[in-house]
Amino acid sequence: MTDPRTYWETLMDRLSAFYRTGDWRTPYLREHAEDPFQVMIGTILSQRTRDEATDVASARLFRRYPDAPRLAGARPAQIEPLIRETGFYHTKARLIRACAAEVLARFGGEVPKTYEELTTLPGVGPKTANCVLVFGYGIPAIPVDTHVHRIANRLGVVRTRTPEETEARLRQVVPEEYWIPLNPLLVQHGQNVCRPIGPRCGECPIVELCATGRALRAGRAPPRAADRPRRRRAAARRPGSNRSRR
Ligand code: SF4
Repeated sequence: MTDPRTYWETLMDRLSAFYRTGDWRTPYLREHAEDPFQVMIGTILSQRTRDEATDVASARLFRRYPDAPRLAGARPAQIEPLIRETGFYHTKARLIRACAAEVLARFGGEVPKTYEELTTLPGVGPKTANCVLVFGYGIPAIPVDTHVHRIANRLGVVRTRTPEETEARLRQVVPEEYWIPLNPLLVQHGQNVCRPIGPRCGECPIVELCATGRALRAGRAPPRAADRPRRRRAAARRPGSNRSRR
């Protein structure tokens, strides 16, 4: 394999050109500034639901409660109808209100800027903390969702079973200058081409960089995935439970 810088730069260039996202080298916040509080709450709402449902519910919620003081002052019964389509809305309403209340009480209403502090907040797990760092503050981190986890394994740059393992391994193998744009590009790729079932390798702009794509082209079996689904108890998958904290 080529050296890591050349590999990741080529991958980013090809995906950016394919999805016409502009130059990924542009400092992220210059073009995409997002409110850290809304990134955090929106990411909690996105647990175990579709992106479209999250977008609708987040827009409705933030029109009424755009910041920590206002959301902390709301009752769950006022929040629930606004986020109903994201599923688990009783749990999520209590979770996001508790999260807002702690941001207010412990951090003066300002979302903290470190992974360690963020992950002490209710409902905030590794993925949510990393999303706040990247999309709210422009601080290098690697949010790993199902798309990033799946594609990294298919590329062959990691061989991991869980998103947490993938994040730890990616932090070792991806040079830091590529961390911020990595998630947005891989998520876009996962939604459009490298889909969970039936990846469109024939249309993929990074097929030469991908162990799975190269194997399929050569008529060989792709590398065996390490991320075989593992059985989880239903209770452990509810938003806010330890196993589902993202
Ligand atoms: S070649 Fe196939 S498996 Fe590899 S990234 Fe592209 S679509 Fe995904």
